[in-house]
Amino acid sequence: MPDPFPDTTAFRAVVDAEIAPHADRFDRDERLPDDLLARLGELGWWGAILPTDVGGAGLDLVTLGALHEEVGRGCSSVRSLLTVHSMVAHAVARWGSADQRERWLPRLASGQALGAFCLTEPEGGSDAAQLATTATRHSAGHTLDGHKRWITGGQLATLLLVFARTERGLTAFLVERDTPGLSIRPRTGMLGTRASMLAEIDFDHCPLGADAVLGPEGFALATVLTGVLDIGRYSVACGCVGILQACMEASAAHAALKGNRPVPLGDHQLVRRMLTRMVTDVRAARLLCREAGRLKDDDDPHTIMATWIAKYFAATAASRAAADAVQLHGAAGCSTDHPVQRYYRDAKVMEIIEGSTQIQEVQIAEEAYR
Ligand SMILES: Cc1cc2nc3c(=O)[nH]c(=O)nc-3n(C[C@H](O)[C@H](O)[C@H](O)COP(=O)(O)OP(=O)(O)OC[C@H]3O[C@@H](n4cnc5c(N)ncnc54)[C@H](O)[C@@H]3O)c2cc1C
Repeated sequence: MPDPFPDTTAFRAVVDAEIAPHADRFDRDERLPDDLLARLGELGWWGAILPTDVGGAGLDLVTLGALHEEVGRGCSSVRSLLTVHSMVAHAVARWGSADQRERWLPRLASGQALGAFCLTEPEGGSDAAQLATTATRHSAGHTLDGHKRWITGGQLATLLLVFARTERGLTAFLVERDTPGLSIRPRTGMLGTRASMLAEIDFDHCPLGADAVLGPEGFALATVLTGVLDIGRYSVACGCVGILQACMEASAAHAALKGNRPVPLGDHQLVRRMLTRMVTDVRAARLLCREAGRLKDDDDPHTIMATWIAKYFAATAASRAAADAVQLHGAAGCSTDHPVQRYYRDAKVMEIIEGSTQIQEVQIAEEAYR
């Protein structure tokens, strides 16, 4: 049986040197610097999920998860951008026509083109079947009208994967940033993942060519959408393992400090209980993610439920660990002196995106009935 824990030494070294030390600044600035975006391209991380023949790194899904865990440990905003980009890259690789693959995959692999995933609308995001954005068919293609909200990386993206309703049903479209009628408004002031460069995107009579449809028209719910959400959910779950690890490392270091106390904080039993929960949760969440990744690598359809379970466990555990990490740091944990307040804000977002905790609590019960 393969080792469930790939060697992450190289990923960890980059995150420790180039991402984690700057993550609080990214969070304050609400943006990622251009040189970091370029560096992710040099590292091959934009194209991590893509095969080598189109310029990708060709990572298996277990190793991709380990990469997203490490990046999530350093900065959830960077991980979020890698997540949505990987979702778009995966969609083109899996459902793209020969022309779409040839046109986009090398650019997505290098980071020359950045992807954004456009599903959520102002009326609500949990129920994808209720989308209001429409694509009206005409002889040369479709006309796209609607609004998308909370789009990670929307400020940067050159290729948008947009879900809209056509007369045949829910359909996925590849929409280029410079399409006439498309406007992008930066969205700032978020609670967490503040540097993930969110945008609101409006489509006002956007003309789309016949080659914009990705996958089978009318069947995106059961194909492209399910597939990309599964990849996104897996990546977020792995990112949550990274948050858990970061909470544990910061808490263990702080608990070891004695200061002017008679004994270090970590000698108190209730502090030890917090650390015990973190140690246990990080290991359990990592194993659940590895299981989901291994099932993906084996093309086993059980990966969908395994990913729901991994994301539910990892996101709720990360929220709990981040709250405990702030608690354990006391007032310092509420200040920008320590990154734990960022972990706390980022972890809360993880309970909302890629299937909220409540939606997962509804879904995962299906497993028991089966
Ligand atoms: C930082 C950030 C980044 C994001 N990035 C993207 C992105 O890149 N692309 C994109 O398309 N979207 C993105 N989103 C949107 C995200 O996917 C949605 O926020 C999410 O799907 C929830 O939808 P909503 O916010 O409209 O909440 P709603 O769907 O309105 O839900 C509100 C609350 O009601 C609960 N709820 C809803 N339905 C049920 C139910 N049936 N039973 C029980 N409880 C229920 C939910 O759990 C939630 O707590 C992002 C959001 C955030 C915060």
